[in-house]
Amino acid sequence: MENVVIVGTGCAGWTAAIYSARANLDPLVLAGAMPGGQLTTTTEVENFPGFPEGVMGPELMGKMQAQAEKFGTRVKYEMVSGIKKVGEHFEVQAGEQTYEAKTVILATGASPRYLNLPNEKELIGHGVTSCATCDGAFYRDVPVAVIGGGDSACEEAMFLTKFASKVYLVHRRDELRASKIMADRTLANPKIEPVWNAVVTEYVADDDGEVTKVKTENTVNGDSGELEVKCVFVAIGHDPNTQFLNGVVDLDENGYILQRKGTMTNVTGLFAAGDVSDHVYRQAITAAGDGCAAALDAERYLAELEC
Ligand code: NAP
Repeated sequence: MENVVIVGTGCAGWTAAIYSARANLDPLVLAGAMPGGQLTTTTEVENFPGFPEGVMGPELMGKMQAQAEKFGTRVKYEMVSGIKKVGEHFEVQAGEQTYEAKTVILATGASPRYLNLPNEKELIGHGVTSCATCDGAFYRDVPVAVIGGGDSACEEAMFLTKFASKVYLVHRRDELRASKIMADRTLANPKIEPVWNAVVTEYVADDDGEVTKVKTENTVNGDSGELEVKCVFVAIGHDPNTQFLNGVVDLDENGYILQRKGTMTNVTGLFAAGDVSDHVYRQAITAAGDGCAAALDAERYLAELEC
């Protein structure tokens, strides 16, 4: 019987692991399909306190994992498919394996959203992607497009200017949602051309199934347009990774886990932390803070169980 099973290895998961390991709870972390979470697909993180020169996302995650393991955290690279409460404890299903635990911390984060256009799924990896860090270098000296107007879109666009000949930033309004510093920096970059009030309505691919252009529609006057691009980087936000929970825990209308008492969910002994339960702040540092809170809440709950 585990004291704490932590599902997920983003900032929330690793911080929960560091705290619960240092509290001698001997946590088990189940790392999912994308160990390290969203920061493994970013470049430089400039706003995580303690790194005045900035830090690369993957490096930060590697350090968090090393810190968690240093205090005895055990890690298994398994994907959780379901969780059940049985009496006072939990059964966590991961492949053929079932883990029993007194508490579970859900820190499964959120996944990038796509446009849901008809041929989008086939084109992922062939000119449609959500990760500039992963795929940007494949598109040297060719025009590309980024879709979205938030911090992610700006960050992706800035990063892509290192490779692409031109970066169209396609946004459905005429004002960026991104923070001012990021928006100013993006719009000042001569390689980035904003395409205001526009949505992509179609991906056009060649005979080899690679994107060659996108069709657009103006959101104000309905005019159609086209952009010749070799790749489209979709950066329009994220959906929480809660599908595997199958109604075990209360979610809000967008699928985010509801925290009821501190980080505890409506299920006693089941905690949630980070982007899987936060659609407001969604920062690396707030996820880390939430992971810390979840570990402390789990520790207190376990102490009460012992009494
Ligand atoms: P976001 O802030 O939710 O922005 C999503 C963008 O996509 C918005 O501009 C939105 O348009 C647009 N959009 C949404 N659905 C769309 C659709 N179906 N078609 C076209 N456009 C669509 O998401 P994010 O940029 O991923 O950022 C998430 C959070 O992470 C934010 O809190 C952000 O500050 C943070 N973040 C921080 C950094 C950093 O500080 N370095 C980097 C990345 C992300 P509207 O504006 O019209 O809604």
